[in-house]
Amino acid sequence: MKLSIVSPIFNEADSLPHLFTAVSGAMQDFSGEWEWILVNDGSSDNSFEVMSPLAQTSPFAVKLIDLRRNFGQTAAIAAGIDHAQGEVIVLMDADLQNDPSDIPMLLEKINEGYDVVSGWRYSRKDAFLTRVLPSKLANGLISWVTGVKLHDYGCTLKAYRREVLKGFRLYGEMHRFIPVYAHSVGARVTEVKVRHHARVHGKTKYGLERTLKVVLDLFTVKFLVSYASKPIYLFGGTGLLLALASLLVLLFLMVRRVAGGVSPFDSPLFPTALMVGILGFQSILMGLLSEQLTRTYHESQNKPTYTIREQFQYPKPDEEIDPGRMEKLP
Ligand code: UDP
Ligand code: MG
Repeated sequence: MKLSIVSPIFNEADSLPHLFTAVSGAMQDFSGEWEWILVNDGSSDNSFEVMSPLAQTSPFAVKLIDLRRNFGQTAAIAAGIDHAQGEVIVLMDADLQNDPSDIPMLLEKINEGYDVVSGWRYSRKDAFLTRVLPSKLANGLISWVTGVKLHDYGCTLKAYRREVLKGFRLYGEMHRFIPVYAHSVGARVTEVKVRHHARVHGKTKYGLERTLKVVLDLFTVKFLVSYASKPIYLFGGTGLLLALASLLVLLFLMVRRVAGGVSPFDSPLFPTALMVGILGFQSILMGLLSEQLTRTYHESQNKPTYTIREQFQYPKPDEEIDPGRMEKLP
C-alpha cells in the first residue's frame, strides 16, 4: 500500500520539530512506501524556515508545498491531496493535537476494506463552551441531516482511499464533509476513537464563528449530495406545495364569497395567497433552470451520474466460455 500523509500548516513553527519526531516514531514499523506532505498555508511565522531543514534531513520522503498566501485549512488540505501519490491518504493537523501514533490503527481499518476511516476525538482537549459544545451540536446536526452517523466530523485525522476523493473539489470549510461526499458515492465509512491532546505550542486559528460556517456549508452539502442530479424534486416540490397552499386559500375565499357573501378582496388572505402562488410558480421555474445546470455540469465533462466500485465480465471478449473463470476488469 502506498500512503500519503497530508498536514496543513499555518503558524506552527514551535510544533514542527516535535511533529517530525512524532511522525517518524509512529511510522517506524510501517512496511509500505509512504510520504508526508506538508502544506505551508502562508504562515506569517517562520514555519517554512523550520520545516525545510527538517525535511531535508528526514529519513523518510517529505514533500513541502509553500502556498503563496493563507488560503485556509481546507484549501491547504486540497493542495496536499492534489499532490499526493498514495492510494491511501491520511489527513492530520500539524499542531500535535492529533497523534500520529494513531495512524497505524486507521490503516488497519482501511485494510479491513473500509474506504473512509474517521477519527473520533472521544476525549477532546479544547475549550468546552466555544469549541466542544458547538462541535457536538454541529456533529449531531450533520449526522441527522446527511444520514451519515459520525461523532466527530471536525477531527482532521481521518484516512481515505484515494478513489473516493476523485471528482470532489473542496470549497469553503468543507474538508469536514468529505465523509458525507464519500458516502454518497458508495464508500464504506467507519469510525475509530483517536487520541487528542491540548495545544502546547501556538494557538488555535478558530473560534465560535466556525460553527456558523459549518451550518451554512451543510446546506450546500445536503443539496449537492441529495439533489444535485435531480434539483427539480427540491425546487419543484417546494413550488407545488406553495401553489397548493395558495389554491386552498383562494378556494376558501371563493366558498366564503358564495356562502357568506364576504368579498375576498377585503381580506389580507387574497394578496397573500396570490404572492404564495407566484412564489411557488417561481420555484418550479428555478427548478427547471437548475435541471439545465445539472445537465451542463454532467454532460460538458462527461461526468456519469453513478460510480462503479468494480466490474466483472464473463467470458472475456475474445475467450471461450470456460466455467469457473470470472475475471475482474481493471
Ligand atoms: N491551519 C491552516 N490554515 C489556516 C488555519 C489552520 O493550515 O488558515 C492548520 C493549522 O496549522 C493546523 C490545522 O489547520 O495544523 C488545524 O488548525 P487549529 O489547530 O487552529 O484548529 P483546531 O484544532 O483548534 O480546530
Ligand atoms: Mg488544533
